[in-house]
Amino acid sequence: MTPTSQTAGGGRPPGPADGPPRRGERFRAFGPRHIDEIADRYGLAPDVRETVRRISLVLPFRVNGYVLEHLIDWDRGTADPLFQLTFPQRGMLTAEDERQLAKLSADPADKPLLREAVTAIRDRLNPHPSGQQQLNVPVQEGVSLPGLQHKYRETVLYFPSQGQTCHAYCTYCFRWAQFIGDADLRFAAPDPSGLIRYLAAHPDVHDVLVTGGDPMVMTTERLRTHLEPLLDVETVRTIRIGTKSVAYWPQRFVSDQDADEVLRLFEKVVASGRQLAVMAHFSHPRELATDPAQRALRRIRATGAVVYGQAPLIAHVNDDAEVWNGLWRAELAAGVVPYYMFVERDTGPQEYFKVPLARAARIFQDAYRTLPGLARTVRGPVMSATPGKVAVDGVEETRQGRWFQLRMLQARDPALVGRPFRARYSPDAAWLHELELDPQAPAEIRAACHGHLRADAA
Ligand code: SF4
Repeated sequence: MTPTSQTAGGGRPPGPADGPPRRGERFRAFGPRHIDEIADRYGLAPDVRETVRRISLVLPFRVNGYVLEHLIDWDRGTADPLFQLTFPQRGMLTAEDERQLAKLSADPADKPLLREAVTAIRDRLNPHPSGQQQLNVPVQEGVSLPGLQHKYRETVLYFPSQGQTCHAYCTYCFRWAQFIGDADLRFAAPDPSGLIRYLAAHPDVHDVLVTGGDPMVMTTERLRTHLEPLLDVETVRTIRIGTKSVAYWPQRFVSDQDADEVLRLFEKVVASGRQLAVMAHFSHPRELATDPAQRALRRIRATGAVVYGQAPLIAHVNDDAEVWNGLWRAELAAGVVPYYMFVERDTGPQEYFKVPLARAARIFQDAYRTLPGLARTVRGPVMSATPGKVAVDGVEETRQGRWFQLRMLQARDPALVGRPFRARYSPDAAWLHELELDPQAPAEIRAACHGHLRADAA
């Protein structure tokens, strides 16, 4: 059954979310064990709840009261993009995997076999894409540093261990492996001491991206322990916070008990002379339309932080030029700088969510064409692949056939940044490793891409 033929009728429409949020409105998360409660409240059909139960054995599922009440439009049933964004869907695993999960979960005696099947399915879903484990985790004095990734010379990614969940989980999340209760959690640092030592040894790093999960799930006091030590590192000029909290729980900046304190912390970072960039993940214009989201953005911007908007292009969620045009316009109106349209990564349920590069380029261009000039800060579609960030600038027709025009926006090797190259056009290719590079492409580009194609395909 396709997602659009599943029924979820009879549910409550989303609330207006227009009134002032109540101070201290309580955050409540819902997971697989709450599916009956959600289904009864919003009228999910029995087959839908079974699907959620089954797929969430393998992939993480988490939603919250704000998403349920104010973002999902239950009148649109399971085809609603915000439902697709947060609820596991039939088709995210193969039919054979689903059958096996259904069979093994029916009998408690099969529990050990079910565990084995779940592990095997997860392993096939490329849980750590783009060489994150093999190539990005830095080593200092012979010891690998958990909780850091260093891919581009000037930027280090920092994963505080207390920020490795999110207010809700995106079904397409490329970091889904962080959320499956794996005791061998790869990217998580209990405190910033390792980061600070690493920065002292690498003065070229000017930019620290604090990410997860979502660092904004931490209390202000906890977040402070991770951010303030960075202010003593003279070489760090920009602190970025990667977050979807403005979309999934804007109350974090408006009415949570320590909402005001977090804004004071942002002000302190700005007052230190650093750039504070809030890298906000918005997948759909509806996420910006609520009053709490608008208020959160106004309050964040009043601290001097700059908010950038970025998201992947995802089938069933936002694979429509009008949606992207509306998203970038809504961002511009709210003072958010449109930044990246990413291509869905080759991990997890990519088969379900992927949009071929040819279509992605058309959607980007159609959405971009009628944007006001100030919104044309956005770049895309971009693959965050093993050798670097590769933009698909368009398709060109030549006497030798059709080609994708590609460009290295960012690269492990700084000498490659900005370099254009080409690959044979394909209507179906959805990731770098599926492309055939032009034999005339610069040798360094071919070496960088070919050297990493296996990692991307792994
Ligand atoms: S907010 Fe980011 S890290 Fe969290 S589930 Fe969504 S994509 Fe993944």
